[in-house]
Amino acid sequence: MQTAVRKLRILFVAAEMAPLVKVGGLADVVAALPQALVARGHEVRVLLPAYRPLLTRGARRLTSLGDGRVSLAELRRPDLPCPVWLLETPAFMARDHPYSRPDGTAWADDAQAFGELGRVAAEIAAGKVLTDWNPDVVHCHDWHTGLAPVWMSLKATSAASVFTIHNLAFAGRFHPSILAELGLPESLNRPDMLEFHGDVAFIKGGLSCADELTTVSPRYAQEILTPEFGNGFEGLLRHRRERLTGILNGIDTRLWNPATDPLIEHVFDAADFSGKCLERRRLLQRWRVQESDKEALPVLASVGRLTPQKGVDLLLEALPELLHRRLRLVVLGSGEADLEQAVVAAARRWPDRFLAHSRFDESLAHSIYAGADMLAMPSRFEPCGLSQLYAMRYGTVPVTTAVGGLADTVFDADTVGLASGKATGFLMAEATVSDLIETVDRALQWHGDPRRWQALMRNAMGRDSSWAAAVRAYEKIYESALARRVDTLQAR
Ligand code: ADP
Repeated sequence: MQTAVRKLRILFVAAEMAPLVKVGGLADVVAALPQALVARGHEVRVLLPAYRPLLTRGARRLTSLGDGRVSLAELRRPDLPCPVWLLETPAFMARDHPYSRPDGTAWADDAQAFGELGRVAAEIAAGKVLTDWNPDVVHCHDWHTGLAPVWMSLKATSAASVFTIHNLAFAGRFHPSILAELGLPESLNRPDMLEFHGDVAFIKGGLSCADELTTVSPRYAQEILTPEFGNGFEGLLRHRRERLTGILNGIDTRLWNPATDPLIEHVFDAADFSGKCLERRRLLQRWRVQESDKEALPVLASVGRLTPQKGVDLLLEALPELLHRRLRLVVLGSGEADLEQAVVAAARRWPDRFLAHSRFDESLAHSIYAGADMLAMPSRFEPCGLSQLYAMRYGTVPVTTAVGGLADTVFDADTVGLASGKATGFLMAEATVSDLIETVDRALQWHGDPRRWQALMRNAMGRDSSWAAAVRAYEKIYESALARRVDTLQAR
């Protein structure tokens, strides 16, 4: 029997949301999860910093806060799942990019800027900003929003807080003097609250104070309890482990659909791969590479932030060896300057075998997922990973490490076998150059047998990556957070 779901008012708070501002997977989740919640009848709003590029997009002023230097504007658009509240502060409005200045360094006023985001979220939660809308639950994402649960607990708001860890490697560490500057009690500078190796870490606000904690895959939820993946927070997380749940991310299956995607020219589905072959050709033509069907080389692609997390350095190191195989590589990524330079240098050295663009390009990302044969994701850690989910949906077979969400979503063809119906890709045991080469070799062997390869593609395309299961899991978390909130307030 189905139990009725209570309709909730949920305030999302985050630093990114697609398609308004996107650096990585966080943006996709902050768009797609609200969409799935709205479809279940919940009322959702997203509180997002008003970065400069968002200012001209037809937002309507809702209210001013404090001394009038800060205001809230509402954006409603058909491509957004719900109204978005833009937090207009001088610090955010000066930014073209959420995290980095044009020279690639971090903004100097991150603590003040994201401190303000957390404070305003808590004021909205307390009903102090808008009289006609206050949330039952505030759902915070990553360190940028870590102070919201702190303020909510200090002010004993009746709204519950949920904090989702998308990446524990980013902690938001600042000098402890920021507490006084933000009007927070200095008593928070202690190990069981915000103190972290002589600094304060905003993420600890979420980890210590939120009523419920989630992260984006069951495997990562286990991993972050260990020193290897816990980034120094494993003790605190172990202490709060009964509040920590791993919920696998979904994807927006309407936006990411090879049968209807407006960003590709030749649509296709699992019954007919001819469109995918044409997309492959179109992809290579972007680099003016022509090849006949007879001499076609398999395309191994990589789409992602250029950071050591993603193992791009392993891919580059393996390159001379990999290019001894019948293989072409396509890389799209931006990020750390040294890795960007290394990618550009490799593209110059092997101009028709290593095809790269070092920039952020949503449309090219769709073309790559559609046109490639395999996706390389040799990540050292991976909270969930969306790239492998998009790749699978477009019949591009992932070659990944067996960590975090990759281990939860990719099933090794040689281990589980085709007959299981579960095989979707190839897993490396460790993030090393030798494991990468060995695993690409196994994938190439399968690729050499078109019948088996197409069966693998179909398995990958058939994986249910929708939000259906996750949205129900989040509903349970929201209810549990509300129950815990009531208990906490009664115990005061
Ligand atoms: P992370 O969140 O760690 O960056 P994910 O795999 O969860 O990694 O999500 C990455 C998202 O960002 C995917 O939607 C991917 O397509 C996109 N992406 C990453 N780099 C680029 C880029 N240079 N151009 C276009 N899209 C990119």
